Amino acid sequence: MTQRVYSTRRRVLVTGGAGFIGSHLCERLLDDGCDVLCVDNFFTGTKDNIAHLVGRPHFELMRHDVTFPLYVEVDEIYNLACPAAPIHYQYDPVQTTKTSVHGAINVLGLAKRVKAKILQASTSEVYGDPQVHPQPEAYWGHVNPIGLRACYDEGKRCAETLFFDYYRQHKLRIKVARIFNTYGPRMHPNDGRVVSNFVVQALKGEPLSVYGDGGQTRSFCYVDDLVEGLVRLMASPDDFTGPVNMGNPVEFTILELAQKVVELTGSKSKIERKPLPSDDPKQRQPDIALAQEKLGWTPKIALAEGLPKTIDYFRQGRPEGQTPSVHR
Ligand code: NAD
Ligand code: UDP
Ligand code: UDP
Repeated sequence: MTQRVYSTRRRVLVTGGAGFIGSHLCERLLDDGCDVLCVDNFFTGTKDNIAHLVGRPHFELMRHDVTFPLYVEVDEIYNLACPAAPIHYQYDPVQTTKTSVHGAINVLGLAKRVKAKILQASTSEVYGDPQVHPQPEAYWGHVNPIGLRACYDEGKRCAETLFFDYYRQHKLRIKVARIFNTYGPRMHPNDGRVVSNFVVQALKGEPLSVYGDGGQTRSFCYVDDLVEGLVRLMASPDDFTGPVNMGNPVEFTILELAQKVVELTGSKSKIERKPLPSDDPKQRQPDIALAQEKLGWTPKIALAEGLPKTIDYFRQGRPEGQTPSVHR
């Protein structure tokens, strides 16, 4: 009698797997030979982001809201489920906090039961409007707990707290990545974020909406670089939990970004000033010394290389019916 051979593939759960970053991560994990379970409630994500993965034998898609318990058997968990753009997370702020907090409790409970390694997609927003620049992981942040961004910022901060309490109390193997502004193909064209807004406006020949004087800064990481960082973090030794910053340290003013987009699209669009949203951080730049030291990770794709790929994606347009918006 022949003996049945059981798969030795790592079984990996990606929550928020149908989103912008999640879809790239699912693709990378499949290419690495993992068995991937993508869980998403399609709040901001879309099936079109992962349509090219459906049908691959080691890819599985499950519609599920992480604020409810989830019973599956996996070896590793990437917890990305959470709307990330201000217009998305402010649409239903209570649900945003629930997604971060109840979602974290559920995936941590799951990780505890099945002894899985678990990674949290945290954010540079835990630093709020930072008074230290650039931001090292040791900085505790400057967050308004009752402002419009608090549902996201404080939700993510509480999720970090839960991760570290499960680590201390239940000896879970945790990893916390603090992700800075990331861009690339499959961003939502109308999520109001600066890269997608500027590219879409430039391609339509509309004015580019620069909020405030455009002197505020951001550092933009191309999605492939970020995914490489997340995969390296998951593979790092158990005694390395993070939190670890992940982003591209090259800083641009928003006005510089607008000028670059106009140049690369060859658009005739002009720049139009609009009011600065409340609690808008003035500066943001990751200090990535820890990721460089512990993971040997440094972003390789400069804005000059990543922006044209993103512009191409938006130029091709999404298929009919793929209107990116809040799907509820
Ligand atoms: P996204 O909105 O494209 O992806 C989030 C995904 O989570 C979507 O597919 C959405 O449908 C899903 N989701 C939301 N609530 C859910 C719920 N309750 N249950 C199940 N699924 C749910 O955003 P993204 O940019 O890909 O962000 C992914 C993660 O990375 C988020 O946790 C975000 O906070 C974090 N992050 C992103 C950035 C960035 O610049 N894009 C920066 C910092 C942190
Ligand atoms: N949980 C889950 N999947 C599991 C195990 C737990 O969704 O496989 C949820 C469970 O519903 C619980 C949460 O995770 O509410 C936290 O679980 P934990 O075991 O830490 O706490 P407890 O069950 O004791 O509240
Ligand atoms: N921004 C802008 N015009 C836009 C969208 C955004 O000037 O059309 C600015 C915004 O005020 C902020 C920066 O660009 O200073 C980044 O905004 P985004 O919403 O992309 O990310 P976050 O504020 O979360 O870093």
